[in-house]
Amino acid sequence: MKKTGRGRPKTGHKKRPDRTRQNDQRTTTPTATSEQSVVTKSATRQTTAYLKKLFSEVGFSIDSKKGQNFLVDLNLLDLLERTADIQPDDIVLEVGSGTAALTERLARSAFQVVTIEIDSRLATLAHDRLIDTDNVQLVNTDVLASKNKLSPRVLSALDEAEKRREAAGKKGRFLLVANLPYCVATPVISNLLLTKPFTSATVTVQYEMADRMTATAGHHSYNALSIWIGSQCRGEIIRSLPPAAFWPRPKVDSAIVRLDLDEHRRAQISDLSRFHTFVRDIFCHRRKVLRGVLLTLAGGKKSPDAVDRIDRLYETFGLEKNIRAESIDPDTFVQLEYEFSRP
Ligand code: SAM
Repeated sequence: MKKTGRGRPKTGHKKRPDRTRQNDQRTTTPTATSEQSVVTKSATRQTTAYLKKLFSEVGFSIDSKKGQNFLVDLNLLDLLERTADIQPDDIVLEVGSGTAALTERLARSAFQVVTIEIDSRLATLAHDRLIDTDNVQLVNTDVLASKNKLSPRVLSALDEAEKRREAAGKKGRFLLVANLPYCVATPVISNLLLTKPFTSATVTVQYEMADRMTATAGHHSYNALSIWIGSQCRGEIIRSLPPAAFWPRPKVDSAIVRLDLDEHRRAQISDLSRFHTFVRDIFCHRRKVLRGVLLTLAGGKKSPDAVDRIDRLYETFGLEKNIRAESIDPDTFVQLEYEFSRP
């Protein structure tokens, strides 16, 4: 198993209100003690008792700000794995290795797993558990370089995995399978769809987010994320998960969601980055009627050109003057943005 990342793990609870970016590029060898190795190898079922014992033996305290809620319902771990339907030539990205309970399962089915863990203490435990697994690359880093950008280290680990697969004469898919840290779930999915699209994503997220990911026009949860995902993917909530499925228990319900990329619909978006920005801009002004927001984006209502442009747009699409963004479906949004952005 290959691990890249920071040095020796630090134990002890860190009280931090927000995530910090960690960009150290050092490559390390395993740093866990042999005692840790015994614990991690002998107990492969991730139950609450197993985690409590493991964490107490290595002096690890959970950092809730990093979304460290481990999936301890083994039936649901099975369901997540089955739903992902990993094939032998697939490359799988996992964000949030934790103690590698899910990673280990993914590695059994995939050609290669790239797993990312921000917490160096957990990265060491995960590394230890995966020591005999040769198709996992563990990267000890923040998955995000910034809110709008995936870490270059993640992208280069995926590139490497693809080269290895190519060298083996194989072709397969790229999947995201993860019990996602809630704090970065939206930017991870959004940025992947922008720069490194998956064939499918099978993830656990907060139920509220699952609702937004799969919401259709007119639904109370429908927002910029729904449009961004809905314009490129088919989405389905597979199962709602109670807090008891995790340890420690989160305060809210979660869900397993599956997204399948629809290549044809994605190809209708003429400029992904421009469309992404457009949708976000529109929903910054969610409560306003769409016409007012478009007018602002076009130069303001004092500009006669802007008024003409928007009037023509409304005529072309047959839109009512007081329509709100929430009632426009993703495909119409794609066409609307294309017409709006045309010189
Ligand atoms: N995969 C494990 C499981 O299913 O039990 C752990 C999942 S836990 C919900 C989320 C994991 O993501 C934690 O281990 C946490 O430290 C890690 N994490 C949080 N923020 C991260 C980030 N920005 N980049 C990479 N990993 C992150």
